[in-house]
Amino acid sequence: MGWKGLSSLLILSLMIIAKKPDFLSKYLSSKREFGTSINLVPTMGALHEGHLTLIRKAREDSGLVVCSIFVNPTQFNDPKDFQKYPKTIEKDIDLLEEADTDLLFLPEAADIYPNGVSNLETYDLGDLEKIFEGEFRPGHFQGVCQVMRRILDLVKPDELFMGQKDYQQCMVIKKLIQIMNAPIHFVAVPTVRESDGLAMSSRNLRLDKDGRKNAVAISQSLNYIKKNIKPGDLTSIRRQAKELLEEKDLKVDYVELADANNLKIVKSWDGEQKLVALIAAFQGEVRLIDNAVIG
Ligand code: AMP
Repeated sequence: MGWKGLSSLLILSLMIIAKKPDFLSKYLSSKREFGTSINLVPTMGALHEGHLTLIRKAREDSGLVVCSIFVNPTQFNDPKDFQKYPKTIEKDIDLLEEADTDLLFLPEAADIYPNGVSNLETYDLGDLEKIFEGEFRPGHFQGVCQVMRRILDLVKPDELFMGQKDYQQCMVIKKLIQIMNAPIHFVAVPTVRESDGLAMSSRNLRLDKDGRKNAVAISQSLNYIKKNIKPGDLTSIRRQAKELLEEKDLKVDYVELADANNLKIVKSWDGEQKLVALIAAFQGEVRLIDNAVIG
């Protein structure tokens, strides 16, 4: 077959943008009827290489790749953080098309919360809600569960791809899937970093030049813990890691070491238990989180 014959066979694969839940549900159930599986990557937009790595991971499996972009008001405990959350939707659409995404779900708040936000369901997340992000951002994980419940109900994915960068969030969503008793396979994708080690985050866009330089202390501090941790009492390694952050003018919410499986704080380490080191700190007004698994 010559080039002419070939070109008549080429089909342009265009990304569908679904704004309305009805259209989304109908479109996806028509695909499901033909046995197509659905791989979901939920995001809040301002996409970067971390998000695109999730999309590529979802693309590796057969099936439809669906990405959602929705900046969920109910998960922001700080209204200023919500207002200032970066929005780059045109660029996001280009990036998703380049990454061969099949469908972008781009709802408005009224599509996600048709009855408003004042009487939303709450979820029993146990201790997960009282520690780390749960403690410093009251209500945050309820908001995360409320939006994820709605999106999962609409998309009904077979596989859900989320980033280990938000370690505690991964655990919360696994718990939500259990509560929903939904047949969703959860895939946690390792954190993607800038060349100097800073974990990629949409919030990095809000850092000024000096703030961006200082923020690298977060991953440096995690690396310090990884290199220097020894069995026994963990108080001094935590203190040293905190000092590394404070030397760079970061205001620390927490530097903590916890059991990687259940996030219970570990004060003294036997050298065997799998740990996760977790950091949350402010660079100016911008709150950043990161973590590293140890062992
Ligand atoms: P967000 O848009 O910040 O809500 O993030 C959407 C998804 O991308 C979440 O599952 C995040 O954990 C994940 N994600 C964000 N940053 C990174 C990163 N640097 N590496 C890997 N995954 C990430």
